This record gives sequence, C-alpha cells and structure tokens, in this order.
Amino acid sequence: MKTTTDPLAFLDDELQDLRRQNLYRPLRVMSSAQGPLVEVDGRQCISLSSNDYLGLTHHPRLREAALAAVRDFGAGSGAVRTIAGTMTLHEDLEAALAEFKGTEATLTFQSGFTANTGVIPTITGENDLIVSDALNHASIIDGMRLSKAPRKIYAHKDIDALRDVLAEARKAGGPGGKPHRLILVVTDGVFSMDGDITPLPGVVAAAEEFGAAVMVDDAHASGVLGRNGRGTVDHFGLHGRVAIQVGTLSKAVGVLGGYVAGSRALREMLVQRARPFLFSTSHPPAVAAACREAIRVLEDEPQLIERLWENTRRFKAELARLGFDTGVSETPITPVMMGESAVASRFSERLFEEGVFAQPVVYPTVALDGARIRTIVTAAHSDEMLDRALAAFDRVGHELGLAAG
Ligand code: PMP
Repeated sequence: MKTTTDPLAFLDDELQDLRRQNLYRPLRVMSSAQGPLVEVDGRQCISLSSNDYLGLTHHPRLREAALAAVRDFGAGSGAVRTIAGTMTLHEDLEAALAEFKGTEATLTFQSGFTANTGVIPTITGENDLIVSDALNHASIIDGMRLSKAPRKIYAHKDIDALRDVLAEARKAGGPGGKPHRLILVVTDGVFSMDGDITPLPGVVAAAEEFGAAVMVDDAHASGVLGRNGRGTVDHFGLHGRVAIQVGTLSKAVGVLGGYVAGSRALREMLVQRARPFLFSTSHPPAVAAACREAIRVLEDEPQLIERLWENTRRFKAELARLGFDTGVSETPITPVMMGESAVASRFSERLFEEGVFAQPVVYPTVALDGARIRTIVTAAHSDEMLDRALAAFDRVGHELGLAAG
C-alpha cells in the first residue's frame, strides 16, 4: 500500500520542541571574512565568537601561501592519502609539525575531530582500557564509541579520582583478569566550554604510577599555550612523557585540519589503519600550504601570542569589574555565565543588536542550568573594539539584571 505521509515528519515535532525549550540554534550567516570585525546577517559587528586566536585566518602570509599552492598544485588533492593523495605539501607540513612539537613524527587529518576519531579506535581494542575526563570534547567521546575498548570516566580534572580508576583497573585487569595491553588516559588540554586547563603534570604522574599512556587533545592550546603555541606539553615542561598529542589546525593556526604527534610507530600505524585517513580525501594543496606557513608565522611572530594574552587578561578583568561571572577560565575562552538557556539566548540577541557577535552555548553542549555566552578575544582585537564590546555587555547586563557592578 502506498502512503503519502512524510516519513521524516517527526523531525518537525522535534524541532518545535527545541524551539519551545530555547535550545534551537539558528545559523548566523557571515558575509565578510573572518576577523575581529565581521558582517553577520547584514550587520557589522565585533566578533567574540571565532577560534581565530591569532588572527591567522586572514594573515597575508597564509593567504599568499594558499594562492601559490593553488597556482602550482591546483584546487584539490584528488584522492585519499594511501591511493594518490599524498603530496609533498602534506609531507612538508608533517615534518614541520614534528619539529615544532618536538616529536618523532606527526600525521595530519582532515580536522581535529577526525584526528580523535581516527587515533583512538586505531590504537585501542578489547584488551585495553580508555580512561577519560568527564568533560572531554565530543570528538574524543565519538573516538571512544568507535573503539572496542571499554572506558571509564573520571570526575573532571580530579587526579585522586583518576588514580582510583587506574588502581582499580590494574587490580582487576582486562578480559579474563589478564593485565590490560594498554591503559590510555585521555584529556583535553584546554576544555573548550569553560576555558580551564587540564592539570597535566598530575595526569602524567598518575599515569606513570600505574603504567598508563597519556593522550592530550590540544585543540584550544595549539597556538595559545607553550612556547610559540606548542601546546600544553610544552607549557608544563612534559616533553617525552605524553605519548600522544592531538592538535588542531582549524583554530589558532587559522586554516583547517588536525594532527596526531607522537612516535614514528604511532604515525605508521595510523597510516595503515586510521579510518578517516584511509577513507577520506586529503587536504587540498591550499590548506596544507597555508598550515605550513602558519607554523613559520608562529615561530616568527611571538608578539601575536603576547597580544592575545594581553587582550585576554584585560577583557576578563573588565568583565569581572562589571560584575559578570566568568567561571573557571584560565585561557582566552571566557564564558559569561547566564544560567538558563532563555537568558543566554536573549542576552546574545541583545548584544547582537548592540553590534557584538557573541553566541550562547546551551544544553546539551553544557548542563541545562549552565547556559552561557562564550567569548573569545583574539590578538586581532584592538583596545577600542574591546572597550566597545565591554560597554555593550554592561548595557545589556543592566537591562537584563545580570551585571552587579
Ligand atoms: N577537540 C577539541 C577539544 C575541540 O574543542 C575541537 C573543536 N571544537 C576539536 C577537537 C575539533 O577540532 P576541529 O575543529 O579541527 O575539527
């Protein structure tokens, strides 16, 4: 019997539900380049919404590198890396990243997301255990879901809880009581919703005590923490003690992509087995070349990171002075806590009318009562832009009864 009803009609109901709960997020359309000043939905505004920490998305040296790569190598790579998609540009970028990170080797992926979903299931199986911080990024969670290894979650940044999990795992062992082949402790370097930093020295010490390996996802630490933005391992002086570092090329590096840095054997195994690497086309030449140039810029222009941190300190201090709760952030990711999602959405809308683009983050990305406006200042924001943004926060805060200052 033929039916004319739409089999996907339930989607309309679900969308309606999201709207009713203020959890529906419309896409804002940007008609300018990324930067500290953008045009969004036809309105000029100061952006506090990008991850473009150092302003590299529009850096002249990256633009030139991308254009030259298009001229010399074309628009696309044409295949996955293992078939005919590995170019000198990809290899050069990986050599530069390995040198930058101080590791034997690196392997790039199409995104930070696929780096995590590539590496975790490749190196873990049923005889292993993955131990993960409770607030790790969605891509780590998906990577664990794709693995055959069981997993344990420890309370956010709680080293005692981590030690308890590791001690128990060592005692109980894996299937049949046999010792685990690998226990992998995974943590974000910088947690992307709260902007707090993982206590990596404690994580590494606990892992070493119980013979576990550490993997840190430095998506929000790449280009932000450590010498010239080398990440949390460099920031804490833990070179050689963290087996796997994941980084992104999509945020401070200003382009697109992710990478896994570690041993030569790790890279080789990922080339053989990591599914996003094996089954999805490699970066276009422009992306690889612009990322390569970005690593040079990180080395040549440390003043960008200094400016980022100057802006961060000033913006946080001023928000606090105005009476806003900026949570536990220690990095340029500065949440402005709002509580209910309806308040966060209203606040963001009013900021937008005042010429400031700062997006709300609501459930399920954060807890139901943990809605916030998530802000990131960048090295490209001028003092005057930050003052204007702060004045808008102050006005809207008073209007909605949120700022106590
Ligand atoms: N890991 C973490 C901790 C992140 O915050 C993000 C991006 N939100 C990613 C991975 C994914 O990175 P990419 O945007 O390069 O896919």
